Amino acid sequence: MKLASFETDGRRSVGVVIDGEIADIAATGTCPATMEALLALGPDGMRTARAATENAPRFGLANVHLLAPVTRPSKYLAIAANYQSHIDEVKAANPDYVPPVHQRWFTKLPNAINGPYDPIPMPPESSELDYEIELAIVIGTRCRRVSAADAPSVVAGYAIHNDVSVRDWQKRSPTIMLGKAWDGHGPLGPWIVTPDEIGDPHTLAMSCFVNGEVRQRGSTAEMINNCWDQIACLSTVMTLEPGDVIATGTPFGTAGSMKPPRWLKVGDVVRCEIEKIGFIEATIEVETV
Ligand code: MG
Repeated sequence: MKLASFETDGRRSVGVVIDGEIADIAATGTCPATMEALLALGPDGMRTARAATENAPRFGLANVHLLAPVTRPSKYLAIAANYQSHIDEVKAANPDYVPPVHQRWFTKLPNAINGPYDPIPMPPESSELDYEIELAIVIGTRCRRVSAADAPSVVAGYAIHNDVSVRDWQKRSPTIMLGKAWDGHGPLGPWIVTPDEIGDPHTLAMSCFVNGEVRQRGSTAEMINNCWDQIACLSTVMTLEPGDVIATGTPFGTAGSMKPPRWLKVGDVVRCEIEKIGFIEATIEVETV
C-alpha cells in the first residue's frame, strides 16, 4: 500500500494511492484523518485502510496537493556518515574530518518537514545550500529496546527524504543541528510504501538530480549501519512512536564536496528518486518570511 497525506478543497485527509488516483479513506468515516492516528492503530489500522479503499471517493493525483505523509512526528532523527562513499568525499574536502565509530545521530525537527513537491526555501543567511537523498523509515509501532532481528516488525513503511543542509551553519557546532533544522528543509514523501511492497529495504537504487543532471547515484545496500541496526540503536535510548521518522543517510555526490562546491541556487529543481517508492521534486525558492 502507498499511504499518502493530502489536501483537497482546503481539507486534509489520508488516502491510499492506486493507479494514479488517491482513494480518500478518511472520507469513508472508518479511518482517522491524520496519518499519525492511522499508524497508531497498528496492523488493524492497515487492514481498515485497505478495506476502506473499496468504497472511498477517488481523486486524480494531479488534482490534490500531496503533503508530507507525516507532518508532526514526535521524533525526526537522521544518521550522519552512513555511506562510505559520502564519508570519503567529506574527508577529501576536509582532511580534519573524523568519521564516526558508533552510529552518529542528529536531530532534524518537525518544522523542517516539507511536502514532496513543495518549494525548498533558500535562506538569505547562507549560500551553502545542499541536498542529500535518503531513504526514510516511518515507524508504525510504539517500541523500546527492539533487537535488530525484531526491527522489521515496527516499521510502517518507507518514504523518500531530502536531508537539505545549510553547510556553513552545520559546521558552526558539533551537533550540526543549526544546519539541518531550517524550516522546509526536510522534504518527505511522496507517500509511505508499506514493507510488503518494498521487501528488503537494503536493495533500493537511489538517485538525486539537480536540473536533470545526476548528482547522486547509489543504493541503500551501501548503508554502513542498516535500517535494523539503526532502529535497535535508537530504541535503546528512546521509545519510538508511530509516525516517527528516521533518515538513514546519503551516498556520494553532495554539492559541498565538489571542487568547487556546486551549491543549490534559487530556481534549481532537485529531484530524488528511490526504487519502488517513486520520486519527490522541489524548486529552490527565496525565503520571504
Ligand atoms: Mg543526511
